[in-house]
Amino acid sequence: MKQSKSIGILGGGQLAKMLCDSAKKMGYKTIILDPDSESCGKFSSNIHINKSYKDEEALKKMCVMSDVITYEFENVSIDSVEFIEKNSGNIPQGKAPLYISQNRVREKNAVSRLGIKTAKYIQVFNKKDLENDILKIGFPSLLKTCSGGYDGKGQWKLVNECDLENIKLENREYILEEMIDFEKEVSCLVVRGVNKEIVTFPVGENIHEKGILKMTIVPARISKALETKIVESSKMIIEELDFVGPLGIEFFIKGDEIYFNEMAPRPHNSAHYTMDACNFSQFDIHLMSILGLNFPEIKLLNGVVMLNIFGEDRTKVEKISESKEVKVHIYGKNLWKPGRKMGHVNFCGEDIEELINLVKSF
Ligand code: AMP
Repeated sequence: MKQSKSIGILGGGQLAKMLCDSAKKMGYKTIILDPDSESCGKFSSNIHINKSYKDEEALKKMCVMSDVITYEFENVSIDSVEFIEKNSGNIPQGKAPLYISQNRVREKNAVSRLGIKTAKYIQVFNKKDLENDILKIGFPSLLKTCSGGYDGKGQWKLVNECDLENIKLENREYILEEMIDFEKEVSCLVVRGVNKEIVTFPVGENIHEKGILKMTIVPARISKALETKIVESSKMIIEELDFVGPLGIEFFIKGDEIYFNEMAPRPHNSAHYTMDACNFSQFDIHLMSILGLNFPEIKLLNGVVMLNIFGEDRTKVEKISESKEVKVHIYGKNLWKPGRKMGHVNFCGEDIEELINLVKSF
């Protein structure tokens, strides 16, 4: 008989919420730790510890109450994970995936060592470095903060000398990247279990608006050869870096080449389509990976377009009627603010172009 386990989750945002929903379906209990008293994960979890991620008493409580602990965002403090490990908490993903993915230079170093292409990049510490390094990378290029940036925040496009002159650097680490004139952005969600088994979900084609993911199209409209390259590279990354748990990896496609962009050791927004278009969702497989369960074969049941819903889309979402093919997921955040991710909708069907047109009509 399957034992009922308790899953501890660091973080209580929408990813934790969906992880809790999955856990509930599978018969597991959940405990989330989140300093936000109104975090949306609170309503789906069994227990919400409303304390800071660094609160030692709260972390000890998580260790005692949880059979296994995981995280739902990549900026969890390494110190908190170390504290859990020292206090006999079972956190199978450990700190390595966080340590590498929390810094853009570190993650590009780790991946390019495996022979996987990235945009040309250089670490930058100050304006003088930047003035020298731009000569090696050239215009146009992108300057990004090494850590803490997300959804296109913390990055600046440098098109000419004037941009270079105007930019002000803070006292922190940056990365200067060549701008890839890509044709498509894609991602692959790969998961590795405690038992070292690896599974991948179908590659998603991502459409961004202002640096934020707007929609994901599956199957991605790319050649079989490119798809194989993306899947094999993703498996290689998770295996060679010896990570456990889910890893969302983003790539650019230009011609026959793929370029690694970034990765996150957690469920990924671009894989939310799996909730309605696959036999198992990314959240189900995340749980199986940390619990050491054998993975089922992942099947794509139909084509799908996932549309993100932001604060400004409130009236738009009210017009969408749910059906067998159209599934609306609203995260239950209390404030509908412009730019804030409030939910997503999965439009399922056989004809991808038809689905894209349907989504664009909203
Ligand atoms: P990131 O936060 O690195 O995922 O960047 C946000 C978005 O900026 C990506 O989804 C791309 O659309 C764009 N971008 C990031 N890096 C590059 C690059 N090296 N070349 C071209 N576009 C990029």
